Amino acid sequence: DLVPVRRALLSVSDKTGLVDFARALAHAGVELISTGGTAKAIAQAGIAVRDVSEITSFPEIMDGRVKTLHPAIHGALLAIRDDPEHVEAMKTHDIEPIDLVVVNLYPFEDVRASGADYASIVENIDIGGPAMVRASAKNHAYVAIVTDPDDYASVLTTLEMNNGALSLNFRQHLAAKAFARTASYDAAISGWFAQTLEIEHPTWRAFGGRLENVMRYGENPHQQAGFYVTGKKRPGVATAHQLQGKQLSYNNINDTDAAFELVGEFDPARTAAVAIIKHANPCGVAEGASLKDAYLKALACDPVSAFGGIVALNGLLDAQAAEEIVKTFTEVIIAPQASEEAQAIIAAKKNLRLLVTGGLPDPRATGMMVKSVAGGLLVQGRDTAVVDDLVLKVVTKRAPSEAEMADLRFAFRVAKHVKSNAIIYAKDCATVGIGAGQMSRVDSSRIAARKAQDAAEAANRADPLTKGSVVASDAFFPFADGLLAAVEAGATAVIQPGGSMRDDEVIATADAHGLAMVFTGTRHFRH
Ligand code: 5GP
Repeated sequence: DLVPVRRALLSVSDKTGLVDFARALAHAGVELISTGGTAKAIAQAGIAVRDVSEITSFPEIMDGRVKTLHPAIHGALLAIRDDPEHVEAMKTHDIEPIDLVVVNLYPFEDVRASGADYASIVENIDIGGPAMVRASAKNHAYVAIVTDPDDYASVLTTLEMNNGALSLNFRQHLAAKAFARTASYDAAISGWFAQTLEIEHPTWRAFGGRLENVMRYGENPHQQAGFYVTGKKRPGVATAHQLQGKQLSYNNINDTDAAFELVGEFDPARTAAVAIIKHANPCGVAEGASLKDAYLKALACDPVSAFGGIVALNGLLDAQAAEEIVKTFTEVIIAPQASEEAQAIIAAKKNLRLLVTGGLPDPRATGMMVKSVAGGLLVQGRDTAVVDDLVLKVVTKRAPSEAEMADLRFAFRVAKHVKSNAIIYAKDCATVGIGAGQMSRVDSSRIAARKAQDAAEAANRADPLTKGSVVASDAFFPFADGLLAAVEAGATAVIQPGGSMRDDEVIATADAHGLAMVFTGTRHFRH
């Protein structure tokens, strides 16, 4: 089942790795055929290549709309090579077989995501590319189809291992990937139509939603992934309008959701708020006099982690905030609206994704949260608890001051959106240290304090901002140790649900150190 690779056809929009791959193929004695732009790139590198129009004796016409759609090409891809009739047809029409096809498609998804106009999006619907991909994949008994530059290396090593041939098993795996690609491509196109025409997506229903997009990969490159939207009209990542930038990745969508749900906790009528998210956890959250002010305060919490982060704002992205945000490498910005000026500033960063939602999520809105476990789905209601609705009980001798109380509320609001165990130090309605996702609460406490220390050192400040801060814990302190870590960091007030068997001990420790502590009676586990 080994088929020697003698001729290859290359036609790619994404030219990543193309020249090196073409050179290696040519070096292995493979004859190269190619289309306009691809042929040009190969020839410019000094590698011998024949133009498709030479094979078809027909020029590329209509701005490339018709270039490989020709029987001389498709006959070469589809011929069954041990069928006498097919062999005869090849002979009669002077068709030579093609053994390897390297095609990646017009970047429809990226062009759509970048907010291009209708005509440009339509022009980026590839026709000849998918036709070649599907023809080659169907005829995988003879033809190998490569649709992903990530596979160039394995094609070359496999060719070398098999003395210039590829096995049936290898070709089958490539064919499976090729059909997955054309399926996701068409899903993206029909999804775009559905959105544009505001109609129901006709197909691709699963998991209680319709397939909106297939991502290049999931959390990791070896995982496949898709985005299913439920059609609920809540403002958020699923209904947002992308004004510019590349297609959102799986991790982008997950993190952007976390970021926007968090800023939804801050009523824009009361304050401007910004959250910076990394790996679904905030690395900085702040309220400010303006969004620029809030962003700078959020950034100061952990500027190292903010690199490559997602920024969410609870109000109209203005030029002042945009100017600050673009100074740090950022993956996504999401806001209810963006001013024209801000959009122009963001436009200078071509890859930066800008999403506008038209509104903020309501933190009190009910909804369903789904998580998969082996063999099933876990479903629960959304965490609709909001600190403003809770009765805060002072349990220490000292009651918090007004300023401490404002920070306590702020910190507990943020704690809801930090993976457990969550410890948040806050001062002046800005996080100054966040400890997330630790298996013990005391570790989260220490990590948060250490990060505040790092930020102080980076900013050449004598003291970490945890000195004189308040601290929030998403669940009760089971022992006094976590509280003592907060005391050590310089916290003066605490907010936590309470309810531990050792509450008395924890309260006594707080009193012994002059801390003010309030119990919320409600916890915010988030796993
Ligand atoms: P090139 O940069 O080589 O001029 O164009 C490469 C792109 O053209 C590839 O993305 C390929 O899928 C696409 N393509 C190849 N043949 C055809 C065709 O006949 N019609 C259309 N619309 N696209 C094609």
